Amino acid sequence: MNLIFLGAPGAGKGTQAESVSTKYGLPAVSTGNMLREAVKNGTEAGLKAKSFMDAGDLVPDEVVIGILKDRIALDDAKNGFILDGFPRTVEQAEALERMGVNIDKVINIHVADEKIIARMSGRRVCGDCGASYHIEYKPVKTEGVCDLCKGEVVLRDDDKPETVLMRLKTYHEKTAPLIEFYGNRGKLRTVEGQEEIKDTTKLTFEAIDV
Ligand code: AMP
Repeated sequence: MNLIFLGAPGAGKGTQAESVSTKYGLPAVSTGNMLREAVKNGTEAGLKAKSFMDAGDLVPDEVVIGILKDRIALDDAKNGFILDGFPRTVEQAEALERMGVNIDKVINIHVADEKIIARMSGRRVCGDCGASYHIEYKPVKTEGVCDLCKGEVVLRDDDKPETVLMRLKTYHEKTAPLIEFYGNRGKLRTVEGQEEIKDTTKLTFEAIDV
């Protein structure tokens, strides 16, 4: 089973992708996490990506598509995968089709912009393993320390308020057209993002299972 999570930044794609990954035993593939890792390691892709990420813009397709293609070719993805944050443009979705990847369902998590802006200030991420947290909705057990790998939990550079506004603008201009793209292909399932993570998870599982 190949799934895509679609939604604005902060809608909860990563969090829900992690739950679905655990339930179905499929790897969650986050291009955002892979790009942050590349930036941290100073790789060629990371050097190309950094300025776009800092500005709240999308990283050029040729960088992201290459990373994604290599990732889904790995052994653990041969029975399926969950894409979180890819595709983010119609061009990327078309590239996926050209790779011969069949997508079963696209879960679109809908959260209104006002709620996104309020949520993002509380979002935190592990600088080492990329696990996501929220000071209110999904707190760490020990202040500043990742539950999973004991890495340092920090505010992402691009979660600062001015960058969040740019990322939302980018989402509406470049990513939201994918709702129609996958709707036309009969793949789209929209889940209304709830206040409590577990309630969104329940709706997400229902959307996948029906
Ligand atoms: P995310 O963690 O998914 O919010 O991604 C963080 C940042 O990485 C985005 O704001 C983009 O700059 C970049 N990024 C992640 N995925 C993609 C993608 N599929 N295409 C272009 N840029 C991406």
